[in-house]
Amino acid sequence: MKVNQAEIVISAVSKAQYPGDQFPEIALAGRSNVGKSSFINRMIQRKNLARTSSKPGKTQTLNFYMINESFFFVDVPGYGYAKVSKKEREAWGRMVEEYFKTRDTLKATVLLIDFRHPPTEDDLIMYDFLKHFELPVVVIATKLDKINKTKRQKHLKVIEEALEIEPEDVIIPFSAETGEGKEQAWNKLKEFL
Ligand code: GDP
Repeated sequence: MKVNQAEIVISAVSKAQYPGDQFPEIALAGRSNVGKSSFINRMIQRKNLARTSSKPGKTQTLNFYMINESFFFVDVPGYGYAKVSKKEREAWGRMVEEYFKTRDTLKATVLLIDFRHPPTEDDLIMYDFLKHFELPVVVIATKLDKINKTKRQKHLKVIEEALEIEPEDVIIPFSAETGEGKEQAWNKLKEFL
């Protein structure tokens, strides 16, 4: 996929602010610091369109990015950051649930998890939540470059088993550093667009 155009259209907190419904959409979810911004930036070949930040848990809006005038990437704020208050977690939950429950143009969700470790409890909950809405999930396992080639198969298996991944879903190991997995990720996402 050659990305010629990518721009943020709106940061929304509720349905009334979502853009119109004439384009298909892919959501991106993952725990804070998993590498979601780095994934978006690598996929669209921009250094810094999606903010990579060392302060996890900061963005609490749904960020809609228009890509090639033909579809949206929707950056869902990260979860699992310990320093977030109960009130903030609840607000996050309401916003995210409203989005996944009602957004008809949503075709698939990219769930980012860290390739280095087994999925967290929050990752498992998020995967089940997405499957509850019968959404196709593309699992992107980030920071692949940090794991030795000889150990990669084992890590993949641990993630597959922990998620109890459904047959229709895939796990794509990915590195924002080296670009590994980028073509595979685009090929998969194109199926939904
Ligand atoms: P976000 O909070 O999910 O948006 O995470 P970021 O994209 O801001 O990444 C969090 C940290 O992980 C940053 O220091 C990134 O440089 C680093 N990071 C993200 N992806 C990769 C990757 O594929 N490989 C390596 N080595 N580091 C990564």
